[in-house]
Amino acid sequence: MSRKIGSRYTAHRILGRGSAGTVWLGVGPKGSPVAVKLLREDLAADQELVGRFVQERTALLALDHPRVVKVRDLVVDGNDLALVMDLVRGTDLRTRLERERRLAPEVAVAVAADVADALAAAHAAGIVHRDVKPENILLDVHGPAGPGGAPPALLTDFGIAKLIDAPSRGGGSKVVGTPDYVAPEIVEGLPPRASVDVYALATVLYELLAGFTPFGGGHPGAVLRRHVTERVAPLPGIPDELWQLINQCLAKAPASRLRASETAARLREILPALAGLPPLDIDEPEPETGAHGGPAYDDGGYGPGTDADPYGAPARGAVPLVHGGPAPDSTRDTHTSMRVPGADELAGGAHGTARAPRAPGSPRAGSARHRAAERRRRVRQGVTATAVAAALGIGGWLALSGGGEEGGGPAVPSHSEEDRPREP
Ligand code: ADP
Repeated sequence: MSRKIGSRYTAHRILGRGSAGTVWLGVGPKGSPVAVKLLREDLAADQELVGRFVQERTALLALDHPRVVKVRDLVVDGNDLALVMDLVRGTDLRTRLERERRLAPEVAVAVAADVADALAAAHAAGIVHRDVKPENILLDVHGPAGPGGAPPALLTDFGIAKLIDAPSRGGGSKVVGTPDYVAPEIVEGLPPRASVDVYALATVLYELLAGFTPFGGGHPGAVLRRHVTERVAPLPGIPDELWQLINQCLAKAPASRLRASETAARLREILPALAGLPPLDIDEPEPETGAHGGPAYDDGGYGPGTDADPYGAPARGAVPLVHGGPAPDSTRDTHTSMRVPGADELAGGAHGTARAPRAPGSPRAGSARHRAAERRRRVRQGVTATAVAAALGIGGWLALSGGGEEGGGPAVPSHSEEDRPREP
């Protein structure tokens, strides 16, 4: 089944479906192959979004870097709203992760360094990606192999998060992004700057090494909260230099993170030390039990109240959302009935369990059943993060904690001024 997209492109078959639309294999003028991302109908029908789409045109088309999937054209035609991109012959990083669960450290770091290069170029051009995750990293399997045989990695979907985050879409109380990769300052309602991309990239790198994200698992509301309140569990078996780098890029305080260009350079410096290391052999940490019952995680120098981390995140372990209520976070039901926490509660000591304990019969982390469930969860969460955050009242909590500009909620301002990265 073929269809015309504007006057210059023909889409031939569906390559994949994502949260914002469907990606087609197509051809452009002179028969050159292209990938065409046809945005969802509800997005295409939004006049304000179409206007923003057109406004973004120049910036998106100008972003030209070997590690960025090139946007060739933006088509607004009747009911169709489409991005025409270079076709990447390969797979996305999520698909590879699902196949292998973890990558060898050398390959993981080579992929992350490519993405950091792409981010450095985008940030220098004043563009923040805002949705860095394995689904948006494409592997060019026909490209020249890098360290450890890593295929060249390209970052795609620039501008999509910003388009979807229009003030008219869903009001102010929302967190735009995919929960596992959302930086703490976004959860707190601060504007997304370049450092949110560095945080998301470090999360991806952690996931490539570990097979799970540092703060993922369970209800999206709990995931968002962990970004703000928990410390990341260290990864055994990787050189300290690499761990320090990941830890620094996952700092709660945006100013403590490296810039994308520095991250790329440091990752490439570390690469030779990783040659030949096998994928890590670790499993997702078991849920902790009882107040202060969890392991004492090394905070890598970013302990509560230190200069390096003025957010002063408490030790890993949950801050209960409801004091004196039922065991926090133990079931999904608890979440759906939770009230929003005050800022003092979020800043309080560690109590309870950080992660929902594994229910009897539920798949163990790492099992095929668990990974299939994770895949479904991620797809669901990517689509519903905004709605869930609003439904849980996280927006209300964000409003309480002082974030947000639109309608009293935590809207992530979408003004280009706010989106300007701090990088030159
Ligand atoms: P998501 O919204 O989850 O980020 P996308 O809509 O970007 O997903 O992509 C959906 C699928 O299309 C992915 O599986 C990806 O592999 C494929 N795809 C996206 N862009 C391209 C491209 N430029 N070339 C080849 N395949 C692509």
